[in-house]
Amino acid sequence: MTVKRCRFMENWDVIIIGAGSAGLAAGIYTVRSGLKTLILDEKLAGGTISDASTVVNYPGFTEISGGDLAEKMTNHCKKVGAVIHDLEPVTELELKGEKKIVKTSSATYECKALIFSAGSHYKEIGIKGEKEFRGRGVSYCGVCDGPFFKGKKVMVIGGGNSACITTLYLSGLAAQVTVIHRREAFRAEETLVSDIASKGNVTTLWNTEAQEIKGDKQVRTVTLIDNITKKTTELSVDAVFVQVGEAPNSQIAKASGVETDEHGYIKIDIHQQTNLPGVFAAGDVTNHPIKQVGTAVGQGITAALEAYGYIRRPYYKK
Ligand SMILES: Cc1cc2nc3c(=O)[nH]c(=O)nc-3n(C[C@H](O)[C@H](O)[C@H](O)COP(=O)(O)OP(=O)(O)OC[C@H]3O[C@@H](n4cnc5c(N)ncnc54)[C@H](O)[C@@H]3O)c2cc1C
Repeated sequence: MTVKRCRFMENWDVIIIGAGSAGLAAGIYTVRSGLKTLILDEKLAGGTISDASTVVNYPGFTEISGGDLAEKMTNHCKKVGAVIHDLEPVTELELKGEKKIVKTSSATYECKALIFSAGSHYKEIGIKGEKEFRGRGVSYCGVCDGPFFKGKKVMVIGGGNSACITTLYLSGLAAQVTVIHRREAFRAEETLVSDIASKGNVTTLWNTEAQEIKGDKQVRTVTLIDNITKKTTELSVDAVFVQVGEAPNSQIAKASGVETDEHGYIKIDIHQQTNLPGVFAAGDVTNHPIKQVGTAVGQGITAALEAYGYIRRPYYKK
Protein backbone atom coordinates (compact mmCIF):
# COMPACT_ATOMS: atom_id res chain seq x y z
CA MET A 1 0.00 0.00 0.00
CA THR A 2 1.30 3.44 -0.88
CA VAL A 3 1.10 5.83 2.04
CA LYS A 4 0.51 9.35 0.76
CA ARG A 5 2.62 11.82 2.70
CA CYS A 6 0.39 14.47 4.26
CA ARG A 7 2.19 17.76 4.61
CA PHE A 8 -0.79 19.67 5.99
CA MET A 9 0.37 21.87 8.86
CA GLU A 10 3.78 20.29 9.29
CA ASN A 11 5.51 21.96 12.22
CA TRP A 12 9.03 23.34 12.00
CA ASP A 13 11.19 25.47 14.26
CA VAL A 14 12.40 27.62 11.37
CA ILE A 15 11.27 27.98 7.78
CA ILE A 16 13.63 29.71 5.37
CA ILE A 17 12.17 31.07 2.15
CA GLY A 18 14.78 31.02 -0.62
CA ALA A 19 17.67 28.57 -1.02
CA GLY A 20 20.22 31.09 -2.29
CA SER A 21 23.47 32.13 -0.57
CA ALA A 22 21.63 33.80 2.33
CA GLY A 23 19.09 31.02 2.89
CA LEU A 24 21.64 28.19 2.63
CA ALA A 25 24.05 29.90 5.04
CA ALA A 26 21.14 30.48 7.44
CA GLY A 27 20.15 26.82 7.12
CA ILE A 28 23.62 25.56 8.05
CA TYR A 29 23.51 27.63 11.25
CA THR A 30 19.90 26.89 12.30
CA VAL A 31 20.40 23.13 11.86
CA ARG A 32 23.70 23.20 13.72
CA SER A 33 21.92 25.11 16.52
CA GLY A 34 19.51 22.19 16.84
CA LEU A 35 16.53 23.85 15.13
CA LYS A 36 14.31 21.74 12.86
CA THR A 37 14.69 23.61 9.58
CA LEU A 38 12.81 23.59 6.28
CA ILE A 39 14.09 25.57 3.28
CA LEU A 40 11.67 26.25 0.42
CA ASP A 41 12.62 27.40 -3.07
CA GLU A 42 10.49 27.93 -6.14
CA LYS A 43 13.43 26.93 -8.34
CA LEU A 44 16.32 24.49 -7.84
CA ALA A 45 18.39 25.29 -4.73
CA GLY A 46 21.49 27.45 -5.24
CA GLY A 47 20.02 30.87 -6.01
CA THR A 48 21.18 33.66 -8.29
CA ILE A 49 24.91 33.01 -8.04
CA SER A 50 24.31 29.99 -10.31
CA ASP A 51 23.92 32.59 -13.11
CA ALA A 52 27.50 33.88 -12.67
CA SER A 53 30.05 32.41 -15.08
CA THR A 54 32.98 32.95 -12.70
CA VAL A 55 33.22 34.14 -9.12
CA VAL A 56 36.61 35.54 -8.12
CA ASN A 57 35.75 37.47 -4.96
CA TYR A 58 34.32 34.92 -2.53
CA PRO A 59 36.93 34.21 0.15
CA GLY A 60 38.46 30.75 -0.01
CA PHE A 61 37.95 30.35 -3.77
CA THR A 62 40.36 32.25 -6.01
CA GLU A 63 38.20 31.28 -8.98
CA ILE A 64 35.06 29.13 -9.12
CA SER A 65 32.06 28.98 -11.43
CA GLY A 66 28.82 30.33 -9.92
CA GLY A 67 27.16 26.96 -10.56
CA ASP A 68 29.86 25.08 -8.63
CA LEU A 69 29.73 27.51 -5.69
CA ALA A 70 25.91 27.20 -5.52
CA GLU A 71 26.18 23.39 -5.62
CA LYS A 72 28.81 23.33 -2.86
CA MET A 73 26.64 25.54 -0.62
CA THR A 74 23.54 23.41 -1.30
CA ASN A 75 25.37 20.14 -0.57
CA HIS A 76 26.89 21.58 2.60
CA CYS A 77 23.45 22.65 3.83
CA LYS A 78 21.91 19.25 3.03
CA LYS A 79 24.85 17.44 4.68
CA VAL A 80 24.30 19.16 8.04
CA GLY A 81 20.66 18.08 7.91
CA ALA A 82 18.51 20.88 6.49
CA VAL A 83 15.45 19.71 4.57
CA ILE A 84 15.27 21.52 1.22
CA HIS A 85 12.13 21.47 -0.90
CA ASP A 86 13.08 22.61 -4.42
CA LEU A 87 10.45 23.72 -6.92
CA GLU A 88 7.92 24.60 -4.21
CA PRO A 89 6.97 28.28 -4.47
CA VAL A 90 5.71 30.06 -1.38
CA THR A 91 2.46 31.78 -2.29
CA GLU A 92 1.17 33.29 0.97
CA LEU A 93 2.34 34.10 4.48
CA GLU A 94 0.61 34.83 7.79
CA LEU A 95 3.29 36.35 9.99
CA LYS A 96 1.65 38.57 12.59
CA GLY A 97 0.83 35.85 15.14
CA GLU A 98 3.22 33.88 17.34
CA LYS A 99 2.91 30.91 14.96
CA LYS A 100 4.00 31.77 11.43
CA ILE A 101 1.98 30.15 8.64
CA VAL A 102 3.61 29.45 5.27
CA LYS A 103 1.46 28.39 2.31
CA THR A 104 3.03 26.95 -0.80
CA SER A 105 1.80 25.54 -4.09
CA SER A 106 1.34 22.14 -2.42
CA ALA A 107 1.22 22.45 1.39
CA THR A 108 0.71 24.59 4.47
CA TYR A 109 3.39 24.72 7.15
CA GLU A 110 3.76 26.27 10.59
CA CYS A 111 6.94 27.55 12.24
CA LYS A 112 8.16 29.47 15.27
CA ALA A 113 10.51 31.79 13.37
CA LEU A 114 10.82 32.65 9.71
CA ILE A 115 13.79 33.82 7.64
CA PHE A 116 12.84 35.53 4.39
CA SER A 117 15.67 35.35 1.85
CA ALA A 118 13.90 35.36 -1.52
CA GLY A 119 16.48 37.51 -3.34
CA SER A 120 15.63 39.73 -6.28
CA HIS A 121 14.68 39.44 -9.94
CA TYR A 122 15.84 41.12 -13.14
CA LYS A 123 14.00 44.30 -14.08
CA GLU A 124 12.30 44.63 -17.44
CA ILE A 125 12.68 47.79 -19.56
CA GLY A 126 9.04 47.73 -20.62
CA ILE A 127 9.42 48.31 -24.37
CA LYS A 128 7.33 46.86 -27.19
CA GLY A 129 8.46 43.35 -28.14
CA GLU A 130 10.27 42.65 -24.83
CA LYS A 131 7.62 40.30 -23.41
CA GLU A 132 6.70 38.89 -26.83
CA PHE A 133 10.28 37.78 -27.63
CA ARG A 134 11.26 36.64 -24.10
CA GLY A 135 12.84 33.23 -24.60
CA ARG A 136 13.01 33.85 -28.36
CA GLY A 137 16.04 36.12 -28.28
CA VAL A 138 15.21 38.35 -25.31
CA SER A 139 17.10 37.19 -22.22
CA TYR A 140 17.98 38.48 -18.74
CA CYS A 141 20.87 36.07 -18.12
CA GLY A 142 24.03 36.00 -20.24
CA VAL A 143 25.44 32.85 -18.65
CA CYS A 144 22.17 30.94 -19.10
CA ASP A 145 21.41 31.93 -22.70
CA GLY A 146 24.67 33.32 -24.15
CA PRO A 147 25.90 29.92 -25.43
CA PHE A 148 22.87 29.77 -27.78
CA PHE A 149 24.26 32.80 -29.63
CA LYS A 150 27.82 31.66 -30.29
CA GLY A 151 29.18 33.47 -33.35
CA LYS A 152 26.07 35.71 -33.60
CA LYS A 153 25.35 39.43 -33.15
CA VAL A 154 23.99 40.27 -29.70
CA MET A 155 22.96 43.42 -27.84
CA VAL A 156 23.30 44.25 -24.14
CA ILE A 157 21.04 46.96 -22.69
CA GLY A 158 22.31 48.65 -19.52
CA GLY A 159 25.36 50.35 -18.06
CA GLY A 160 25.98 49.01 -14.52
CA ASN A 161 28.10 46.13 -13.19
CA SER A 162 25.67 43.43 -14.39
CA ALA A 163 25.59 44.87 -17.92
CA CYS A 164 29.41 45.03 -18.02
CA ILE A 165 29.87 41.48 -16.64
CA THR A 166 27.34 40.17 -19.18
CA THR A 167 29.06 42.08 -22.01
CA LEU A 168 32.45 40.62 -21.13
CA TYR A 169 31.03 37.12 -20.94
CA LEU A 170 29.22 37.47 -24.28
CA SER A 171 32.30 38.97 -25.96
CA GLY A 172 33.91 35.55 -25.57
CA LEU A 173 31.08 33.84 -27.42
CA ALA A 174 29.37 36.20 -29.85
CA ALA A 175 30.85 37.61 -33.06
CA GLN A 176 29.73 41.13 -32.16
CA VAL A 177 28.35 42.68 -28.96
CA THR A 178 26.65 46.09 -29.07
CA VAL A 179 26.03 47.77 -25.72
CA ILE A 180 23.18 50.28 -25.52
CA HIS A 181 23.45 52.76 -22.66
CA ARG A 182 21.24 55.77 -22.08
CA ARG A 183 23.98 57.74 -20.34
CA GLU A 184 27.42 58.79 -21.56
CA ALA A 185 29.51 56.59 -19.24
CA PHE A 186 29.20 53.24 -17.48
CA ARG A 187 28.33 53.14 -13.77
CA ALA A 188 30.47 50.11 -13.06
CA GLU A 189 33.76 48.97 -11.51
CA GLU A 190 36.85 50.45 -13.21
CA THR A 191 38.34 47.03 -14.04
CA LEU A 192 35.15 45.98 -15.85
CA VAL A 193 35.07 49.23 -17.85
CA SER A 194 38.72 48.91 -18.93
CA ASP A 195 38.25 45.22 -19.80
CA ILE A 196 35.34 46.17 -22.08
CA ALA A 197 37.44 48.88 -23.75
CA SER A 198 40.05 46.24 -24.62
CA LYS A 199 37.58 43.95 -26.44
CA GLY A 200 37.75 44.29 -30.22
CA ASN A 201 34.24 42.90 -30.79
CA VAL A 202 32.37 45.24 -28.40
CA THR A 203 30.84 48.54 -29.53
CA THR A 204 29.07 50.88 -27.12
CA LEU A 205 26.35 53.29 -28.25
CA TRP A 206 26.17 56.06 -25.63
CA ASN A 207 23.10 58.23 -24.99
CA THR A 208 21.01 55.65 -26.77
CA GLU A 209 17.82 53.83 -25.78
CA ALA A 210 16.01 50.84 -27.25
CA GLN A 211 12.46 51.65 -28.39
CA GLU A 212 11.16 48.39 -29.83
CA ILE A 213 12.30 44.80 -30.35
CA LYS A 214 11.12 43.31 -33.64
CA GLY A 215 11.29 39.90 -35.26
CA ASP A 216 9.34 36.90 -36.49
CA LYS A 217 9.93 33.61 -34.70
CA GLN A 218 13.11 35.13 -33.25
CA VAL A 219 14.47 38.60 -32.54
CA ARG A 220 15.71 40.24 -35.76
CA THR A 221 16.12 43.98 -35.12
CA VAL A 222 15.97 46.63 -32.40
CA THR A 223 14.81 50.20 -33.00
CA LEU A 224 17.13 52.64 -31.24
CA ILE A 225 16.81 56.34 -30.48
CA ASP A 226 19.72 58.70 -29.91
CA ASN A 227 18.75 60.73 -26.82
CA ILE A 228 20.57 63.84 -28.06
CA THR A 229 19.85 63.96 -31.80
CA LYS A 230 16.47 62.11 -31.46
CA LYS A 231 17.42 60.20 -34.60
CA THR A 232 16.11 56.62 -34.79
CA THR A 233 17.99 53.68 -36.32
CA GLU A 234 17.35 49.98 -36.76
CA LEU A 235 20.08 47.55 -35.66
CA SER A 236 20.06 43.95 -36.77
CA VAL A 237 20.77 41.49 -33.88
CA ASP A 238 20.05 37.87 -32.96
CA ALA A 239 19.57 38.41 -29.23
CA VAL A 240 18.96 41.15 -26.69
CA PHE A 241 20.29 40.79 -23.12
CA VAL A 242 18.44 43.20 -20.81
CA GLN A 243 20.63 44.16 -17.82
CA VAL A 244 19.03 47.18 -16.18
CA GLY A 245 19.09 46.14 -12.56
CA GLU A 246 17.07 44.13 -10.12
CA ALA A 247 13.96 44.46 -7.95
CA PRO A 248 13.36 42.60 -4.65
CA ASN A 249 11.11 39.51 -4.41
CA SER A 250 9.40 40.95 -1.36
CA GLN A 251 5.74 41.05 -2.47
CA ILE A 252 4.43 38.13 -0.36
CA ALA A 253 6.31 39.36 2.73
CA LYS A 254 4.98 42.89 2.23
CA ALA A 255 1.42 41.57 1.79
CA SER A 256 1.69 39.89 5.21
CA GLY A 257 2.77 43.05 7.01
CA VAL A 258 6.57 43.11 6.63
CA GLU A 259 7.80 46.69 6.21
CA THR A 260 9.76 47.63 3.09
CA ASP A 261 11.48 50.80 1.88
CA GLU A 262 10.22 52.86 -1.07
CA HIS A 263 11.90 50.46 -3.54
CA GLY A 264 10.36 47.35 -1.96
CA TYR A 265 13.49 46.16 -0.09
CA ILE A 266 12.74 44.71 3.36
CA LYS A 267 13.78 46.94 6.24
CA ILE A 268 15.99 45.17 8.77
CA ASP A 269 17.94 46.15 11.87
CA ILE A 270 21.47 44.93 12.67
CA HIS A 271 19.96 41.65 13.97
CA GLN A 272 18.27 41.05 10.56
CA GLN A 273 14.98 41.50 12.44
CA THR A 274 12.06 42.93 10.47
CA ASN A 275 9.23 44.95 12.03
CA LEU A 276 7.43 41.66 12.91
CA PRO A 277 8.67 39.62 15.93
CA GLY A 278 10.16 36.29 14.88
CA VAL A 279 10.44 37.33 11.23
CA PHE A 280 13.98 37.87 9.94
CA ALA A 281 15.22 38.75 6.46
CA ALA A 282 18.60 38.28 4.76
CA GLY A 283 20.39 38.83 1.46
CA ASP A 284 19.45 40.74 -1.69
CA VAL A 285 15.80 41.13 -0.66
CA THR A 286 16.79 43.44 2.22
CA ASN A 287 17.68 47.12 2.22
CA HIS A 288 21.32 46.31 3.07
CA PRO A 289 23.31 48.47 0.58
CA ILE A 290 25.65 45.73 -0.69
CA LYS A 291 24.36 42.81 -2.77
CA GLN A 292 27.05 40.13 -2.89
CA VAL A 293 27.40 36.46 -1.95
CA GLY A 294 29.62 37.35 1.02
CA THR A 295 27.15 39.86 2.44
CA ALA A 296 24.19 37.52 1.81
CA VAL A 297 26.01 34.73 3.67
CA GLY A 298 26.83 37.06 6.59
CA GLN A 299 23.25 38.27 6.82
CA GLY A 300 21.96 34.69 6.64
CA ILE A 301 24.20 33.65 9.54
CA THR A 302 23.07 36.59 11.66
CA ALA A 303 19.41 35.87 10.90
CA ALA A 304 19.87 32.19 11.84
CA LEU A 305 21.53 32.90 15.19
CA GLU A 306 19.01 35.62 16.00
CA ALA A 307 16.17 33.22 15.13
CA TYR A 308 17.79 30.72 17.51
CA GLY A 309 17.85 33.39 20.23
CA TYR A 310 14.21 34.27 19.53
CA ILE A 311 13.07 30.63 19.85
CA ARG A 312 15.34 29.18 22.54
CA ARG A 313 16.62 32.12 24.52
CA PRO A 314 13.91 34.78 24.49
CA TYR A 315 15.03 35.96 27.95
CA TYR A 316 18.28 37.27 26.37
CA LYS A 317 16.26 40.14 24.96
CA LYS A 318 14.57 41.05 28.23
C1 LIG B 1 25.15 37.58 -13.31
C2 LIG B 1 25.48 37.77 -11.86
C3 LIG B 1 26.79 37.66 -11.42
C4 LIG B 1 27.10 37.84 -10.07
N1 LIG B 1 28.40 37.70 -9.67
C5 LIG B 1 28.73 37.83 -8.36
C6 LIG B 1 30.09 37.64 -7.92
O1 LIG B 1 30.99 37.38 -8.74
N2 LIG B 1 30.35 37.75 -6.59
C7 LIG B 1 29.39 38.03 -5.66
O2 LIG B 1 29.68 38.08 -4.48
N3 LIG B 1 28.09 38.23 -6.06
C8 LIG B 1 27.73 38.13 -7.37
N4 LIG B 1 26.43 38.32 -7.77
C9 LIG B 1 25.42 38.68 -6.75
C10 LIG B 1 24.96 37.43 -5.95
O3 LIG B 1 24.55 36.43 -6.88
C11 LIG B 1 23.82 37.79 -5.01
O4 LIG B 1 24.17 38.89 -4.21
C12 LIG B 1 23.46 36.61 -4.09
O5 LIG B 1 23.20 35.46 -4.87
C13 LIG B 1 22.25 36.95 -3.24
O6 LIG B 1 21.87 35.81 -2.51
P1 LIG B 1 20.40 35.73 -1.89
O7 LIG B 1 20.38 34.44 -1.14
O8 LIG B 1 20.04 36.97 -1.19
O9 LIG B 1 19.41 35.65 -3.14
P2 LIG B 1 19.32 34.58 -4.31
O10 LIG B 1 20.61 33.90 -4.54
O11 LIG B 1 18.67 35.29 -5.44
O12 LIG B 1 18.30 33.49 -3.73
C14 LIG B 1 16.93 33.75 -3.55
C15 LIG B 1 16.16 32.47 -3.77
O13 LIG B 1 14.79 32.68 -3.39
C16 LIG B 1 13.95 31.95 -4.26
N5 LIG B 1 12.60 32.51 -4.24
C17 LIG B 1 12.20 33.74 -4.66
N6 LIG B 1 10.85 33.88 -4.45
C18 LIG B 1 10.42 32.73 -3.89
C19 LIG B 1 9.15 32.24 -3.46
N7 LIG B 1 8.03 32.98 -3.52
N8 LIG B 1 9.07 30.98 -2.95
C20 LIG B 1 10.17 30.20 -2.86
N9 LIG B 1 11.41 30.61 -3.25
C21 LIG B 1 11.53 31.85 -3.75
C22 LIG B 1 14.66 32.09 -5.63
O14 LIG B 1 14.29 31.04 -6.50
C23 LIG B 1 16.13 32.03 -5.24
O15 LIG B 1 16.67 30.73 -5.35
C24 LIG B 1 26.08 38.15 -9.12
C25 LIG B 1 24.76 38.26 -9.55
C26 LIG B 1 24.44 38.09 -10.91
C27 LIG B 1 23.02 38.21 -11.36
